[in-house]
Amino acid sequence: MPILDAPSWHERIYSNGWCRSSGGAVDVLEPATGKVLTRVGLASPTDVNASAAAARQAVAHWATIPYLERAAVFRNAAQVITQNFRELSEWLVRDSGSVQAKADFELTLCTTCLHEAAAMPSQPRGLVLPSNGGRLSFSRRQPLGVVGVISPFNFPLYLALRAVAPALATGNAVVLKPDPRTAVSGGFLIARVFELAGLPTGLLHVIPGGADAGAALCSDPNVAMIQFTGSTDAGRKVGELAGRNLKKVSLELGGKNSLIVLDDVNLDLAAANIAWAAYLHQGQICMTAGRILVQQAILAELVERVVAKAQRLPVGDPSAAQVALGPLIGSNQAQQVHSIVKDSVAAGAKLEAGGNSEGPFYRPTVLSGVKPGMRAFEEEIFGPVAAITAFASDDEAVELANSTQYGLSAAVLSGSVARAFALGNRLRTGILHINDQTVADDVVNPFGGVGFSGNGTSIGGPANWEEFTQWQWITIQDNPPGYPF
Ligand code: NAD
Repeated sequence: MPILDAPSWHERIYSNGWCRSSGGAVDVLEPATGKVLTRVGLASPTDVNASAAAARQAVAHWATIPYLERAAVFRNAAQVITQNFRELSEWLVRDSGSVQAKADFELTLCTTCLHEAAAMPSQPRGLVLPSNGGRLSFSRRQPLGVVGVISPFNFPLYLALRAVAPALATGNAVVLKPDPRTAVSGGFLIARVFELAGLPTGLLHVIPGGADAGAALCSDPNVAMIQFTGSTDAGRKVGELAGRNLKKVSLELGGKNSLIVLDDVNLDLAAANIAWAAYLHQGQICMTAGRILVQQAILAELVERVVAKAQRLPVGDPSAAQVALGPLIGSNQAQQVHSIVKDSVAAGAKLEAGGNSEGPFYRPTVLSGVKPGMRAFEEEIFGPVAAITAFASDDEAVELANSTQYGLSAAVLSGSVARAFALGNRLRTGILHINDQTVADDVVNPFGGVGFSGNGTSIGGPANWEEFTQWQWITIQDNPPGYPF
């Protein structure tokens, strides 16, 4: 019996149960075929306000539930995912264009995320502070109230759940606004899993919507915090609006991440790391290696190996065949990727492989001779393009990698850990891998970027208490002091 029952959500949103919205409805398309998979309700600003008000009502009751019962909800949710793994994975394949292995990996990240959330209600959450006399002084972490989560299409399930689960586990209610294109895998799937896991009604609202719904969430008086994952352009608008309304705001944004390959590497391993970092999920990952910086001495041999991989990787509909790359989220995204490739070639880069598409299927592409100033060097491509730039010295590699406003992830491959770490220490990023590529998330690590990649916040592991709660200072004494006034 499937747990994701399309008739129950048909043209609906999830707000105190499945209900009609006043924002109308929209088709959810399968990127690989263009077929309509289902139809979901769209939230208008009025729906957003109603959900936020209902969430505010529900949050007080959540605090009265014993911590072991609250923890059990997250363990149950992990179990619901495990028991229905294939069905849920199928949705991720179909509505986000994930290849099977990526969909399975994303679901596994989500069970880990839920187990980590299950551990939070039983963790200590305060400090006893020094104080004079018989006064007890302590501070405790308090839930913020209602957390608004705005999430993207690319890892739709995990990037929403990594905020939803710890926000709920630290005592908040959540209003989640997923991208309407992935409203099922990035939203309704989460609603349904928590529904089956026994989360009390009203604590989680899932309301697909566009920029107007996102903006309404950022100015709603019942919302205390916005956790946003998406592009730097939209993040800037979210940050401005949430800031104007004096909300806490966490922005996890785009990247132009450098994978630096030094001349003392194993070339086969380096080629595999480059292909993975550039082509995983068709390059639609914030940590994708957008700049492949290769030391001149190994350039020709390494390009040859990456080209061989790019030409071999199968591309197609992931629900019909075993492929390494599926579709981009839409044909317009493929056109956008192609315009960057074309402009870079016109500016002098060499097209070594790929550079063509059929509808939303863009062939894995290799560009060499990419230089500062070219679009492939400067812009986040969000497509399967390995943009390769040569460098002569370690100093030049640092200069090239740091010549961007983004600062999410960086990686250095070398036969010498000492050399790679000395170089890595000079890079301005929130994430650094020595002898691995740029794309990684273990759930238990703090994840965040600097510069245009974020606003100084991190999400995940030890960062989650900081992210989703606020300190409260409390003092208690037997009698009020006798002040001189
Ligand atoms: P996007 O910014 O277009 O959309 C993200 C979400 O924001 C969607 O739900 C969208 O509906 C909403 N939105 C758009 N405009 C808004 C506005 N003005 N106000 C409020 N909400 C608004 O991003 P996308 O195209 O879905 O995702 C790709 C981008 O996300 C890339 O730049 C990628 O690097 C970034 N990303 C970052 C991370 C990270 O953790 N740093 C993870 C994944 C993706």
